[in-house]
Amino acid sequence: MKLRIAETFESIQGEGFWTGRRSIFVRLSGCNLRCIWCDTPYASWEPEGPVRSVPDILDELLSSPIKDVVVTGGEPMLFEGVVPLCAGLREGGKIITIETAGTVARTLSCDLMSISPKLRHSTPIGTDWEARHEDLRLNLDVLRNLITSYDHQLKFVVNPEHDEPGVDEITELLQALNADAANVILMPEGTDTETLHRRSKLLEPICKELGFTLGQRLHIDLFGNTRGT
Ligand code: SF4
Repeated sequence: MKLRIAETFESIQGEGFWTGRRSIFVRLSGCNLRCIWCDTPYASWEPEGPVRSVPDILDELLSSPIKDVVVTGGEPMLFEGVVPLCAGLREGGKIITIETAGTVARTLSCDLMSISPKLRHSTPIGTDWEARHEDLRLNLDVLRNLITSYDHQLKFVVNPEHDEPGVDEITELLQALNADAANVILMPEGTDTETLHRRSKLLEPICKELGFTLGQRLHIDLFGNTRGT
């Protein structure tokens, strides 16, 4: 089985409950969504990278002493090859995070399903992808499957300076899913430190009121918006 790989790199996890953990990232290329603010367009809008066999990818990942592996994208759950990839990582003693938008369900080995459902402000209005993105971005059955099948976090990218920040949309979605606020992280949208800090300050009272965790994008703070970090 094969997977198209946009990049592999060692860094620290910059987002979510496992922020700060040294990790190896494997970014699968290809996505079924086209978020207007996507920060990895080389894995979505213009997917790139070599097609590699799963054993070849595993050879590389298992040769690292770093325990944590983050399988990200793009949308890694789109591809059947992610199942043997995760099985091989588990066999090799790795701790596995999957980063997904939560539109595709699969049964696989995973220690943390990091689900980032996409809100209305992600839709690329006026592009060829608008209707398809809007149609696919939320799938309640898939989200229910993921949150009941895996240890998980629900990580929402929010822009509190947007006309429609999406907080109401989040609370409606959590109600529909009967999801626990303790698993929810609000993360500011942005790709520079100044914007992230400004928006974090606006998100803090919202998190306090609703019992959510305020997330960060530590890799942007540390390394800037650069590939391979
Ligand atoms: S789901 Fe993720 S990878 Fe896909 S377009 Fe949206 S932000 Fe980019």
